[in-house]
Amino acid sequence: MCDAMAHYGNPSSLHALGADAARLLKQCRADVGEALGERFLKDGQLLFTSCGTEATALALLGTARAKSRRVARTILTTDSEHPSVENNLKLLEKEGFCVVRVSTRGGVLDMTTVQAHLNSDLFMVSMMLVNNETGARYPVEQIFAMARAASPEVVCHCDAVQGFLKVPFTARSLGADLITVSAHKIHGPKGVGALFVSERMLKERRLSPFLFGGGQEFGFRSGTENMLGIVGFAAAAKACAGSLRTSLPHMAALSARLRASLEGSEITLNTPPVAAPHIVSLTLPQIKSETMLHHLAAHGIYVSAGSACSAHAKGPSSVLLAFGLDGAAAASSLRISFSPENTEDDVDALCAALADGLKTLVRIKH
Ligand code: PLP
Repeated sequence: MCDAMAHYGNPSSLHALGADAARLLKQCRADVGEALGERFLKDGQLLFTSCGTEATALALLGTARAKSRRVARTILTTDSEHPSVENNLKLLEKEGFCVVRVSTRGGVLDMTTVQAHLNSDLFMVSMMLVNNETGARYPVEQIFAMARAASPEVVCHCDAVQGFLKVPFTARSLGADLITVSAHKIHGPKGVGALFVSERMLKERRLSPFLFGGGQEFGFRSGTENMLGIVGFAAAAKACAGSLRTSLPHMAALSARLRASLEGSEITLNTPPVAAPHIVSLTLPQIKSETMLHHLAAHGIYVSAGSACSAHAKGPSSVLLAFGLDGAAAASSLRISFSPENTEDDVDALCAALADGLKTLVRIKH
């Protein structure tokens, strides 16, 4: 990113400085595309946005408002999506779409509800790959394939923000038409994301922009590109994709170490068996999440109560309620997330600080 500051041109400018920036932008697009398993991107297949939230808004609103939109009205999603999906779907609900939220109790998708809605009225399926609070990994490939078999025109969107470079997949293996990713989940800078768009969506003109202006990003996302952010995103994607073979088992081993050390303690684990390696959700015995969070922070350990994205939400996490926890348990839960840079010593320090917190922190009386 520091080097990229020297390429100060605007990629839309026609002079040499602009052409230089445009070349850099093209290379970044190729690098992020390659991390998604797509070596040869067509124009419009990888759109840079200001964050994952914007990429998802473009996917959902852009599909619903496309001129060539079908008359089908049902949108299938889960009851534990990130607010960037859920809140846009609420908007579409107000506009007349029928949104069906499939239960993810225990981190497992309710296939009976999915089956019941696989018909020709299915307009869109939007499901996350990995849940950001519980770590549950949903079988989206299977759902997208089933949806397509029932309604060939269906548009499949996947919020892969938490799964990108954390669980193995490619754009092709997911089978989604639209895939949201974000830089800051893979050690890139905050404030930059991307939407992958399938060739079919482009050919059939199924996606409309919702930011209008100078026509950047192939006309799908107007606004001057955040070049430094995009360069950082591409560098992070390249680095993470290059180390997947070691980083995934490493994070899985850290997670196993944490879970093993909590066995027999008063802490209960929420993370389901089919989960990404980097997230562990746990519930404390009658200790408020925030109380333990601050205790751990005092030991230099930074975790979250739910997810950072929902830290401003009032009340217990809707994701944990959907998972099956009651309000009290949800209010006493923590999300631990590992990075490939964490070590066994970090896990041991966490376990020691948790044990200390269990002994010393004030308990809530229910
Ligand atoms: N989707 C999931 C599952 C997330 O965890 C997040 C953010 O943490 C987002 C979407 C939103 O991404 P961004 O923060 O880049 O808008």
